[in-house]
Amino acid sequence: NQQPAPSISLPERARQVIPGGVNSGQRNVPGLADLVIARAQGATFWDAGGRQYTDYHAAFGPPLLGHNDPDVAAAVAEAGRTLDLCGVGVTEGEIELAETLAELVPSMERVLLTSTGSEATFHALRVARAATGRRLVVKFQGCYHGWHDAVSMNVISAPDRVGRRDPISTGILPEVLDATLVLRFNDPDGVRAAFADHGDDIAAVIVEPVPHNVGCLLPDAEFLRTLREECTRHGSVLVFDEVITGVRHGLGGWQEIAGVTPDLTTMGKAIANGYPVGALGGRADLMDLFSSRPGAPVFFAGTYNGHPAVVAAALATLRKLREEPVHEHVFRLGDRVRAELPPVLASLGVPAVVTGYGSVFVTYFMDRLPKTYDDLLANDTGMFVGYRRRMVDQGVFELPLNLKRSHLSYAHTDADVDRLIETTEAAVRAQLADGGAPGDLSTASTMGGAR
Ligand code: PMP
Repeated sequence: NQQPAPSISLPERARQVIPGGVNSGQRNVPGLADLVIARAQGATFWDAGGRQYTDYHAAFGPPLLGHNDPDVAAAVAEAGRTLDLCGVGVTEGEIELAETLAELVPSMERVLLTSTGSEATFHALRVARAATGRRLVVKFQGCYHGWHDAVSMNVISAPDRVGRRDPISTGILPEVLDATLVLRFNDPDGVRAAFADHGDDIAAVIVEPVPHNVGCLLPDAEFLRTLREECTRHGSVLVFDEVITGVRHGLGGWQEIAGVTPDLTTMGKAIANGYPVGALGGRADLMDLFSSRPGAPVFFAGTYNGHPAVVAAALATLRKLREEPVHEHVFRLGDRVRAELPPVLASLGVPAVVTGYGSVFVTYFMDRLPKTYDDLLANDTGMFVGYRRRMVDQGVFELPLNLKRSHLSYAHTDADVDRLIETTEAAVRAQLADGGAPGDLSTASTMGGAR
């Protein structure tokens, strides 16, 4: 048992025992290696040095109500007073949560809970293969579905990699990679062609109905309709991965907005406002294949599935979303960003588009709205990362990594949006003055200007 020497900083201690000093590859952000988070509340977090940041990163999306929402925290505390994990049977909370999701989400006839979104997408693809007896999974450029092998193709595969292996990780069996086809998003002809060639062997098509893992590509109605038609025609399972869009864009998910009902839906993130809950739901005949049902053939397990504390968090979150004007508030603020930022950027003479949906927004430095991942290659990465580094320096936290989206919450205010717009203007102006060189966030001292 090593005791740290008092002179060693927290980030140094982290790097000695945690590979890279952080607990997710996605938290490895150039320039932010020394960021230690100490507190979070509402729209704000504080680092260990007491610096304050208005948070638009929002942990990649869960806290739709804002950090540490008092009603959610109270529900979790209350659950802790009466119950913890027993790992046998079911609790009333689990029943109520499944009933609520089945009521809200059009495709969900049956629901199972997991702890993460990755588990939900893993089980969706496994049950699709089991039900169809087929091998192939189709996914799309720009979409991320978690860390497991079947979907571990690079989110941002270059266009010449379409249809080819481009794993996000080493250590994956080549035959697993071979069993995943990567197609272009918003390309219905490509989907029809893949089904014409491989239709009899496609077990599942999995898609983020809005690929938010590259910011925001809004789907054409024809594209999502084509996925539904081709899957139905060929007996393949259509999976909407609504881990980001579910709850955040509407209580019925994107499927309700688009009027396209998938066979299976995966959810996570905003369901429980930051507590670890994933959900998989869909057609009863598919869901009833899971081994939670006696004698059913598709193995399904998880020690922490349906943990009372996180179920209480989910129920409190969904209750608040139904009872209070949360969506109205975040949509109004998001619309403000999308309406007010473009003229400001235009006045600076920089090619930029501000897109997104509802509470999600992203500014790309290019001259037209992207429809496909290929279009995003026109985005000026130096500007995208550089202005965000300058924003962080001013205490406005948009994640300084290329193509990352930003999120508004119920806790953000109009004053926050005013400051976001002012700070963006100043940051872009400074970035342009530097000839587009990314801002320097390589030392801890550059974090010092944060309020
Ligand atoms: N699907 C989508 C669309 C996601 O954005 C993510 C996480 N960013 C996942 C699945 C995986 O969820 P988790 O990180 O909870 O495993």
